[in-house]
Amino acid sequence: MKKLIAFALVILVVICVWDIKAREDAADRRAEEVQSELVALYGEDYLEDMHKPPQTEIVVVEQTVYVSRIGKKIHKYSNCSGMTNYMTMKRSDAVEAGYSFCKKCYPPYYVQNNP
Ligand SMILES: [Zn+2]
Repeated sequence: MKKLIAFALVILVVICVWDIKAREDAADRRAEEVQSELVALYGEDYLEDMHKPPQTEIVVVEQTVYVSRIGKKIHKYSNCSGMTNYMTMKRSDAVEAGYSFCKKCYPPYYVQNNP
C-alpha cells in the first residue's frame, strides 16, 4: 500500500512538472507569435527599437540673464565689466525688450548659433 501511495505521488509530481513545462512552452510560442505579428506590422526595425533604452527627454530651461540698469546689454555673468547695478530677467524677455547681447558674455559666434 505504501508503495502505491509513493508511486501515485511520483506520478503526480511528474504531471505537475510536465504541466508547468507545457505552459512555459505555450507562453514561449505565444510570445514568438506576438513578436512575428509585430514585425509584420511594423517591420524588422521594431525589434531593434524595442531593445533600445527609452530616449531621455531634453528639458530646455529658460536661461536667466543679467541686464544692466544703465546699459542696454544682456549679460551672462552678473559681474561682467564690474557691473553692480543690474537686474535679472529671462533671456527671451530681455531679447523681446530690445536688449542686445554683450560681446564679452556672448561672443558673436555664440549669438549666431543661439539666436
Ligand atoms: Zn557681459
